[in-house]
Amino acid sequence: MYDLIVIGSGPGGYVAAIRAAQLGMKTAIIEKYPTLGGTCLNVGCIPSKALLDSSEHYHNAAHTFKNHGIDLSALKVNFKQMVTRKREVVNQNVEGIQYLMKKNKIDVHQGIGSFKDETTIIVTKDDGKTEELTAKHTIIATGSKPASLPFITLDKERVITSTDALELKEIPKHLVIVGGGVIGLEIGSIYARLGAKVSVVEYMDGIIPTMDKTMGKELQKSLKKLGFEFYLKHKVTAVERKGKEVTVSAENSKKETVKIKGDYVLVSIGRKPYTDGLNAAAASVKINDKGQVEVDEHLKTSADNIYAIGDVVKGAMLAHKAEEEGVFVAETLAGQKPHINYLLIPGVVYTWPEVASVGYTEEQLKEKGKKYKTGKFPFMASGRARASGDVDGLVKVLADVETDEILGVHMIGPRTADMIAEAVVAMEYRASAEDIARMSHAHPTYTEAFKEACLAATDNRALHI
Ligand code: FAD
Ligand code: NAD
Repeated sequence: MYDLIVIGSGPGGYVAAIRAAQLGMKTAIIEKYPTLGGTCLNVGCIPSKALLDSSEHYHNAAHTFKNHGIDLSALKVNFKQMVTRKREVVNQNVEGIQYLMKKNKIDVHQGIGSFKDETTIIVTKDDGKTEELTAKHTIIATGSKPASLPFITLDKERVITSTDALELKEIPKHLVIVGGGVIGLEIGSIYARLGAKVSVVEYMDGIIPTMDKTMGKELQKSLKKLGFEFYLKHKVTAVERKGKEVTVSAENSKKETVKIKGDYVLVSIGRKPYTDGLNAAAASVKINDKGQVEVDEHLKTSADNIYAIGDVVKGAMLAHKAEEEGVFVAETLAGQKPHINYLLIPGVVYTWPEVASVGYTEEQLKEKGKKYKTGKFPFMASGRARASGDVDGLVKVLADVETDEILGVHMIGPRTADMIAEAVVAMEYRASAEDIARMSHAHPTYTEAFKEACLAATDNRALHI
């Protein structure tokens, strides 16, 4: 009998298994796919970032090198090589997880895990053969799958999800994207940089609508420069394919139907929790009406010895959120008292400029009736940003009017995906805006923009604007 079995090897599952093994538990992991790493490593975070980096190199070579004094001739995209490199990056990462399982003496069982009862799990392999495993505790980390709309037929060729979009054989001529959230804008950026026309149809009145509104507005300006077209406040009503042509019909706020024709349509309207094949009922694990595994504040399900983490439970669908939850459950099982501050899990969009956020948005503070002050600093005024030529964007700091405590940090600009870590540390230690404003930041760096925004929030004391 195992101390712990983890079902699903995404960032939630494999991290939970490693932490449990570190804490001395006899641990196994069950994964239905031949490779470990889940959505994130195989068809999510890693392949999308590999293609984002490759396409950004090309875009810079084609559009910004000249300004830096670098002339290139006969520049062309070798898309096949780009995709091959992306696969190599994925392979290195998934092999890394295999190695980590071995190193931590975690047994890997390939197959679909389904509950027989609260302590027994049946693993069904691809060839139909089964084995039974027993465990004192189980963590469900089965992740999520792309959501769609009832009237859309996903054909994996031209009406596609992110999984297919990362494996295309050609660069679309016109990619129509349903949903202006994280996936739509990241994948749209890849193809826009490679020369595709990209149209985004979004239901809400702004893109990345769950983030601070200033971020969506700024990002929209930058993406328009890249050639994106936006259809905001448009509700998609039909998606049709005829041969190589796709047509997306959408209703605008005047109730008129707009038709957008392209050669590929990416459906990126969110993801849904995945519990197919798990047979959760056999273990008395309750699934709620959103399809999520229901958990309490300790991430325990309705069964006493079974926990659930990551995309399959409530909360942000982010790899690092899943990881924190994996560690949380492993440490809880070892008798420790771990903690997760969900407010301080950062969100990042890997477009260029990058968007990164932590804490409350301005809209949330207004809704809470909290009195706040705002400090902003544009990258246009940063010496580092002018040197690299990445002047789009700004840092926005929201702080408590009375105590000066930082309540939210929202950044759009170069390398903000990395810069946001400083804001997370500051907020974990409940720093005031003035605390950051008084700390030395190396010059010239993009991070000075955070210090300047904190100075701006502290009696409008920004120095370089
Ligand atoms: P998953 O990674 O989905 O893993 C679940 C695993 O469980 C899968 O391998 C699945 O095969 C397996 N499984 C399911 N059921 C069973 C079963 N019954 N038996 C055995 N195995 C089973 N997040 C970020 O934080 N940063 C990013 O940059 C980012 N980029 C993304 C880009 C894209 C295109 C996509 C689609 C997602 C991205 N995400 C990103 C989200 C991130 O991938 C998820 O939040 C994360 O993978 C969730 O981890 P998880 O462990 O909960 O589940
Ligand atoms: P999302 O929730 O980020 O965005 C979906 C968008 O689609 C929203 O803006 C929504 O208003 C819009 N929408 C919904 N229904 C619509 C309709 N009928 N017509 C037009 N627009 C519609 O979802 P996503 O982009 O699919 O990403 C899924 C998940 O994957 C996210 O929760 C995200 O956390 C995760 N992810 C994270 C990263 C990252 O961290 N960088 C990258 C990719 C994906």
